[in-house]
Parts: sequence; structure tokens; C-alpha cells
Amino acid sequence: MHRSKKLNYWIKRERYMMPSPEEVLALIPKANIYTVLDAKYAFWQIPLTDEASLLTTMSTPYGRYCYTRMPYGLSSAPEIFQRIIHQLYLGVPNVVTYMDDVLIYSDSETEHLKILEQVLKIARENGLKFDKTKTQLMQPSVRYLGHISPRLQRLVLQLQHYDFDLKYIPGKKLYTADALSRDYIANDLFITPEIEISQNNQVLMVTYSNNRHQDLVEATKNDPVLQEVKNYIENGWPIHKKTINLLVKPFWDIKEELFEWEGLLCRGVKLVIPEKRRNHILSLLHKAHRGINSTLSLARSTFYWPGMCQEVEEFVKKCQICQKYSRNNTKEPLIPHETGNNPFPKIGVDLFEIEGRKYLGIVDYYTKYPEVFELRSTKAEMVIEKLKEVFARFGVPEIMMTDNGPPFQST
Ligand SMILES: [Zn+2]
Repeated sequence: MHRSKKLNYWIKRERYMMPSPEEVLALIPKANIYTVLDAKYAFWQIPLTDEASLLTTMSTPYGRYCYTRMPYGLSSAPEIFQRIIHQLYLGVPNVVTYMDDVLIYSDSETEHLKILEQVLKIARENGLKFDKTKTQLMQPSVRYLGHISPRLQRLVLQLQHYDFDLKYIPGKKLYTADALSRDYIANDLFITPEIEISQNNQVLMVTYSNNRHQDLVEATKNDPVLQEVKNYIENGWPIHKKTINLLVKPFWDIKEELFEWEGLLCRGVKLVIPEKRRNHILSLLHKAHRGINSTLSLARSTFYWPGMCQEVEEFVKKCQICQKYSRNNTKEPLIPHETGNNPFPKIGVDLFEIEGRKYLGIVDYYTKYPEVFELRSTKAEMVIEKLKEVFARFGVPEIMMTDNGPPFQST
């Protein structure tokens, strides 16, 4: 029947040791000129043998299909790709490879051109294509391995096994936190490019509304502590922590992660919330009346202010609604999800909405492989249909984590 069933379960992961980005960065000496080439649709450049191709057969309403190229979502794909690209350029001096990035460094232009020619020749001979739009050609400095801020780097690392685009959204389009709940005005909605994988590996997407952005910009402007922080970001931090204002001190510890973004302060991908808006954010975070740990994990992955975690805890403990319905708000012990040694025994499933369209998100706990479907409706039948489609490809999971919303209760 489904030969693809539990395919990942049977895949032997490569023995290839993936270097850490730190190890890769350590290989790059200081040079005058750098070039970064980015492999286009990296995994799809690796053809599958007929035998391997048949193993990826999936059942669709239109018949059976199989991949002819290495699909995203295969547990062994990153190692295979890394090994292939590493071996291709092993013999070329002044070249460093990491996943789908090829970096060339040199001191002289002549030397650089010579290496570049060699790199492109090898690519041509092996059918490797680079993405022209992502090429950084002969620059005095380049962005490599997503080195933008430490936090962003971590995000990139978490997501490197997926096919994803990290986009910088210009100010006009930057909206601020609103829809931690699902009830927002559909037209006034924007989904941020960040896909944050929180502690329990559930994909969390935070949506923002324009009005809220303006409101937060104003509140940031009127927050004396944040203004002082902003001033330090612009003009440099003092060398000694003790010389700064007591309320600004917590920011000193995380100063490398801080930057200003369209009138807002950010700590990596987290938004720094001005004091006057913290209560509002707390109520948003706890809108679904989840327990302390879930609320905390949502807060930690999205926002920052000094003492936030304690405030979240107090807020949840004091919540009247939770008390009334006697929800257990004692801090539940963090139970690490049993992810096992193979993919797909356990998946997380959730519904979300972007610009009035409804989507179903599915994440495998083990590989963290995500799938997203657009839904015509969030009726249980619709959700079941999509889940069946996924189960047909990967097998039926043993455990499915949901928020127990209406569509899931009937499943
Ligand atoms: Zn509550």
C-alpha cells in the first residue's frame, strides 16, 4: 500500500557530521573580498534513484505521485546535501561551504576571480544551480549563515532543515502584536515572517495589526527607560554597568541583542514592550486562559521586558476566570515531549488565520518538519481530510497534540 508510510522511520541518517555554524565561521579568515553563492532550491537539486523515488510515493486524490528529487522533510536531507556540497568543493582553496551557501574569500581580485571561475565550473559540471538574486558578489563584507543578530542566527539554525525565506519587512508593513488570539480584524492583519518554534516545538505565528504598531511606537517614545536604552543603542553603551540608571541595567546585560526597528525596540526577534503596555500584552498572552507554563512560553518567544516572566506568572495566578473555573494554575512541571527516535509518532496540529484565510498547520515533533494547508472551512471534516492526506504520506501518528478546539474534538 503506502510505501511512503513511515519512510523517515526507515531512513538511515547519514553518518556525516554536520559542522556547527561556529565551526564553519571559525574556518573563514579575515580577507578583503568575499562572495556568497546560494544554491537554489537546494534539496531539489539532488536527484533520487528510481528505487529511492518509488519510496516517496504518495497517494493523492489525483492518483499516485513520487518525488524525483530529494524532497524537503526527509530526515536525512540536510546531511546528504551538506556532504555533497562539501565534497564538491573540498579541493578548492579559499572556499567554505555550509548547507546551501558557498563562500569564497580572498585578498586579491585576480585570485578571487580565479576561484570563482573554478567554483562555477564545478557547479556547471555537477548541475548545481545558484540563486542569482541571493548572490553577494565580491563584497568587502557579506552576510553568511544568517549572521544578523545572535537571536536571528539561532532562529535560522532552528529552521535550517526547512525550506524557508526569512524576510525583512519594511516599516510601513511592520505591524505590532495583536492576534495572540484568533479574533482580529481580518483586513488589518499581517503575519510576521518569524516562525518561532517555542519550547514545546509547536509552531507559533504572531500576527500584528497596524493600529497597535502606532500605539506601541507612541508608548515606546513616552517610556523614559526605553528612551534611555534607545539613546545607548544609538550612541554606544558605557563600559561599566554600574554607571547606568538602575532601571536600564537589565538591558545592559542583553545589549548586543538590542536594536531599534521602526520606532520600536527589539531584542532579537522579540519585541520590547514599554511599561504602559505591559498589562495589555499580559492579557493578550493569557487570552486563551492557558496555564502558567504555556503562557510563559508564548511570552518568552515573542516579547521582552525586565521581569516579564514573573509578571506573567503573577498575572495567571491572579486570573479570576481561571480561578472561577478552577483551572489548575499551579505551575505544572515541564514535561519534555517524548520525541522518540523516529519521526511522526507525535505531531502538533493547530488552526490559524491569515488575512481572513484559514490554515491548518502540522508539525512533526521529531524532525520539526512543518506542513501548512489552506482550508475552505475549519469544519472537522475539512480538517480530517487534510490530516488523512498527511497520514497517507507519513503514516498515522500515535499522538496528536492539539488545543482541543471544536474541529479537533470531533476528530
Ligand atoms: Zn485565566
